[in-house]
Amino acid sequence: MKSIIPLIAALVLPALSADTKPNILVILSDDQGYADVGFNGSKDIPTPHLDALAKSGLRCTSGYVTHPFCSPTRAALMTGRYQQRFGHENNPVYKPNDATEGLPLTEKLLPQSLTEAGWQTGWIGKWHLGATPAHAPWKRGFAECFGFIGGGHQFINWQPKNEEYNISLVRDGQPSDVPEHLTARFGTEAAAFIGRHTDAPWFLYLAFNAPHSPQQPTPEELAKFSGIQDPQRRKYAAQISLMDQAIGQTIEKLDATGQRQRTLVFFFTDNGGPLPSACSNAPLRGGKGQVYEGGVRVPFVVSWPGTLPAGKDFAAPVSSLDVYATSLALAGVPMPTDVPHDGVNLIPYLKGENTNAPHPQLFWRTGGGLAHAIREGNWKLVRLKDKPAELYDLAVDIGEALDLATTKPEVVTHLVAALDAWNKELIPPVFSGLAGQQKAH
Ligand code: CA
Repeated sequence: MKSIIPLIAALVLPALSADTKPNILVILSDDQGYADVGFNGSKDIPTPHLDALAKSGLRCTSGYVTHPFCSPTRAALMTGRYQQRFGHENNPVYKPNDATEGLPLTEKLLPQSLTEAGWQTGWIGKWHLGATPAHAPWKRGFAECFGFIGGGHQFINWQPKNEEYNISLVRDGQPSDVPEHLTARFGTEAAAFIGRHTDAPWFLYLAFNAPHSPQQPTPEELAKFSGIQDPQRRKYAAQISLMDQAIGQTIEKLDATGQRQRTLVFFFTDNGGPLPSACSNAPLRGGKGQVYEGGVRVPFVVSWPGTLPAGKDFAAPVSSLDVYATSLALAGVPMPTDVPHDGVNLIPYLKGENTNAPHPQLFWRTGGGLAHAIREGNWKLVRLKDKPAELYDLAVDIGEALDLATTKPEVVTHLVAALDAWNKELIPPVFSGLAGQQKAH
């Protein structure tokens, strides 16, 4: 028997180790409409790989991001903190020599903490958290990097030059341009990262810039959508379809390398679809740039086969803030106590072990106070600068059409007080971005 025991141990121990140290894959899309994914009901834009991902896990039907546009959402994702706590409330201007335009260097990012805990880390795609050398992802905790530093990029056939949407891609700080469609390349890079790291736990942040403008699908992909009459929506649909295929390639690599059951996957969009444009946020009100649901409530999936339920909806509000706290919990890293953090470890909630709502309240603020919002239970209060607060009951009015502020003044008073208390914890924006820039990304 003695000779068998080491064999049994060798077979069992790696599995136990893998279970306790899961990989974490965060997939972000950019400016994708709430309704423009198969698992939220899209009829004209098929997304079979994203739909399969949703079926393998939980569709979070009240999944939120912390801001209705690009960079601030990413700042909270990387820090687990409401980004207004450190003044990251606008999109930074692309200025490689201006250290004020970017995620403040005083913030410690999730990949830094995971690196310290033994995780291999990778970033692929769009950065948009500052363009100076000190702000680069390889200086902020990511060991393996491939993508572009600005807030958007051409997808195909660009001539590299020193303009935000035409800069060279970078691999670990060195120029690295590619001939193929950017979205396809990001899928190839993600699969390669997964293939390189089959033993140690890893964290991969895969941030697509699709389907953000410019809409530049390949001609072959565009041809598949000839049935869509609106030429802009046709291109947008093809861009989403290319991203869906790249996500499929990424998930297939998890399967092929035997890592699917020990990988927690998040998918969500960085903000609502921009309006008016080719996208749809139906049945939500508003879109990118706004604190109505259409700006901040996004397609949102959490998948971890064998650990989390599969093929179900999770209705209570969850937030992009929760990626940080969930990841640290899985890595066995205590939440920092030097500054406030705002996310929660979602795993006990998603497993059904904790049946409370993960977030009693969620908050939003844009433009240093141009717009505010709070969600508590099914109440949603929106307060635009110099206008009376609006109140909606999302349980029966997901489209925020019927303002109940005058009939429920006690609810308004309560929510305004909560919003004002949260506001007192924040600082003004530390960089303003360009006027109008907020809607450009
Ligand atoms: Ca965006």
